[in-house]
Amino acid sequence: MPNEVKGLNEECGLFGIWGSTNAAQLTYDGLHSLQHRGQEGAGIVSNNHGEFKRHRGLGLLAEVFADPAKMAHLTGTAAIGHVRYATAGNHGVENIQPMLFDHPEVTQFALAHNGNLTNADQCRQELSALGVEFQATSDSELLGELVQTSQAPQFIDQLKASLNHVRGGFAYLMMTPTMMIAALDPNGFRPLVIGRMDDGAIVICSETCALDQVGATFVRDVEPGELIIVNDDGISVDHFTTDTHLAICSMEYIYFARPDSIIRGVSVHEARKRMGATIAKEAPVDADVVIGVPNSSLSAAIGYAQASGIHYDMGMIKNQYVARTFIEPTQAKRARGVSMKLSVVKSVVAGKNIVLVDDSIVRGTTSQYIVRLLKRAGAKSVHVRIASPVLKFPCYYGIDIQTTKELIGANYTVDQIRDQIGADSLAYLSVDGLVNAIGPLNDSENHGLCTAYFDGQYPTPLYDYQAGFDAEVARLGLYEGAN
Ligand code: SF4
Repeated sequence: MPNEVKGLNEECGLFGIWGSTNAAQLTYDGLHSLQHRGQEGAGIVSNNHGEFKRHRGLGLLAEVFADPAKMAHLTGTAAIGHVRYATAGNHGVENIQPMLFDHPEVTQFALAHNGNLTNADQCRQELSALGVEFQATSDSELLGELVQTSQAPQFIDQLKASLNHVRGGFAYLMMTPTMMIAALDPNGFRPLVIGRMDDGAIVICSETCALDQVGATFVRDVEPGELIIVNDDGISVDHFTTDTHLAICSMEYIYFARPDSIIRGVSVHEARKRMGATIAKEAPVDADVVIGVPNSSLSAAIGYAQASGIHYDMGMIKNQYVARTFIEPTQAKRARGVSMKLSVVKSVVAGKNIVLVDDSIVRGTTSQYIVRLLKRAGAKSVHVRIASPVLKFPCYYGIDIQTTKELIGANYTVDQIRDQIGADSLAYLSVDGLVNAIGPLNDSENHGLCTAYFDGQYPTPLYDYQAGFDAEVARLGLYEGAN
């Protein structure tokens, strides 16, 4: 399902390169393959012998850089870039990254951020008390301001102190005139990878699909707590903390990442196929054909079909050429977006008992619409299988659902949801099934994964969000019997 229709949005995508004569163009190409992580705005900063040049704007990458002069302006042998979807801050161009900061030692630095800070309010108050005037309203600026106001003696120490001050989910990509720097939060909520071009240029980006796009070879994942520094001498590894506990976002595997990406050694496509295969075993059904909701559910639908022995067919198609509907993501716009984006292949579904595989249900309106479409096209019955557990809890680490009011799974039982969406049956993948489908990433209690969306087991304290979460829990208690 296209992100802007489902209303479940990743915050951002990052791409940076050091040591290439084609730095800005490769950054553009890399960001293009990360467009699924953010469609609201894009920006690139290039580094020409220490002189920074920036272009940024609202919209898709191709729209922001439609004028060739904008790319031609971005000269130099290093660049970092960003595609954005806002989870915090308003939708103005001042929040489009990378952001630029002056600094007495390194002269200036550029900064791009993927994630969401859980102590942003507290940091903002502290910085305001120091007289800081903010450039923008998003969280992403805070690290830069913390560096600028740090009392530590040197830039790298200031950066380490600041990284230890912020909390929550963060993957940062930064650039000074003489180095590119990447840092990942102590839980490693977001993916971040290092690659190398044939000519020796170093790439750091959100997903391996961007390495493939520019022809870079995967070197390794950035580890939680690491500070990766790239300069003309190569890569060096430092740490801002060693107190780390991997909890990578399981929604990256379920929905956000591109299926051709590999996250921490696990192919996203293969993990989704295993999720589909597992729900086929957990909730079998007698049916004639398996179909998936395009595009992010197709891998899971293939897995379901392979495990169940029921044949897979292309029962729905997605119109790729519909204008974006996300800028004001209202329910009415989403509904219209779904109707323009999805169509049923009647010959596949008419007179058949259908297994409809989807990756998640957020509000339920999209599922209701799709089931209706299938029945209108003559489906005898529609059995919905969701290749992820029930979404019940808010996410505070970089996804834009921060209240359970929006989540149908937090407010109704599975049977009630089945009735609301008009399906003949409905089943979700279990949390254990999800963890095993991804493949436990380590032998810790949480298997290296964050599953808080499903089980409320947040890997960190919630800081600014604790009071809101407590209120959600109190409210959820009202529905305890219904869940
Ligand atoms: S709460 Fe959910 S969406 Fe947020 S980081 Fe954890 S698994 Fe991902």
